[in-house]
Amino acid sequence: MFTAKRLLLTTSTAVILFKAAELTANDEWDTIYDSIFRTKSIIPRDERPKIVVLGTGWAACSFLRKLHTDKYHVTVVSPRNHFLYTPLLCGTTVGTVEPRSIIEPIRTLLNRSNASDVTYIQASASAINPTTQSITCKTTAEEAACSHTDIRSFDLPYDHLIVAVGCQPTTFGTPGVLENGFFLKELGDAQKIRNRISDLLETASLPGTDLATKKRLLHFCVVGGGPTGIEFAAELHGKFFCISIYTM
Ligand SMILES: Cc1cc2nc3c(=O)[nH]c(=O)nc-3n(C[C@H](O)[C@H](O)[C@H](O)COP(=O)(O)OP(=O)(O)OC[C@H]3O[C@@H](n4cnc5c(N)ncnc54)[C@H](O)[C@@H]3O)c2cc1C
Repeated sequence: MFTAKRLLLTTSTAVILFKAAELTANDEWDTIYDSIFRTKSIIPRDERPKIVVLGTGWAACSFLRKLHTDKYHVTVVSPRNHFLYTPLLCGTTVGTVEPRSIIEPIRTLLNRSNASDVTYIQASASAINPTTQSITCKTTAEEAACSHTDIRSFDLPYDHLIVAVGCQPTTFGTPGVLENGFFLKELGDAQKIRNRISDLLETASLPGTDLATKKRLLHFCVVGGGPTGIEFAAELHGKFFCISIYTM
C-alpha cells in the first residue's frame, strides 16, 4: 500500500515537473492564465482594430502565437506561405533532413494557435503609406502576377502595422559571390544547392571523368565562417573532404 502511494506521488510529481518544463521551454505559461481568466471578445471581426503583419518568419509567427486574435482583425502578408525552421536548413542541402520536415504551412500554424480568423495573403509589401495608414502589396502568386493585371497590386488598410520582414543575405562586398555563389536563406536556396551537389556528383561519376576533373568538381568553397557557413561545411564534411572556408 505504502509503495503504491509512493509510486503515485513520484509519478504525479514527474508529470507536473515535465509539464512545467514544457511550458517554460515553449514560453506558454500565459496560456494557463488565459484558459482560467480570459473571456473571448465578442466584437464582430469587421469592427475590430486592423492589424497587418508583414512576414511569416520567426518574428511574425512568435508575435501571432501570443496575439489574442479574437480582439483584432488580423491579416498576414508574406511572399512565403510557410514558416521555415532555419536551424535545420543546412541539413536539407545534403539530404540529412527532407524539406517537408522543416516547414509548416502558415495556415496550419495559425489554426493550431487558435488564430483561425487570421487571413493570410501571399504577396510582398512594396510600400508603406503612413498618411493613409495603408500598405501597397504586390502579389507573388504566379498565376495572378502573370495574367490578372487587376489583382497584381492592391492596398490594405491598417490601424497597427507589424513589420517582420527579416533581412537580405549580404556578400560583405566579396567580389564574385553575387554572380557565382549560392545563398542559403530560404528553402529554395537549399534545393538549388542540393541539385547542384547532386549534378556535380553525377558528373564526377561518369566513366570518362578523369581524377583531376573529379577533384575540381568536388571541391566546395564556403564564403562566410558564421554559423550558417560552418554548419553547411559540417553537413558536407560527412560526404566530401575538399572544403575551403573563406571569411573576412
Ligand atoms: C541556415 C540558417 C540557420 C540558422 N540557424 C539559426 C539557429 O540555429 N539559431 C538561431 O537563433 N538563428 C538561426 N538562424 C537565424 C534565424 O533564422 C533568423 O535570425 C530569423 O529567421 C530572423 O527572423 P525574422 O522573423 O526577422 O526573419 P525571417 O525568419 O527571415 O522572416 C522574414 C519573413 O518576411 C517575409 N518577407 C520578406 N520580404 C517581405 C515583404 N516585402 N513583404 C512581406 N513579407 C516579406 C519573408 O518571406 C519571411 O516570411 C539561422 C539562419 C539561417 C539562414
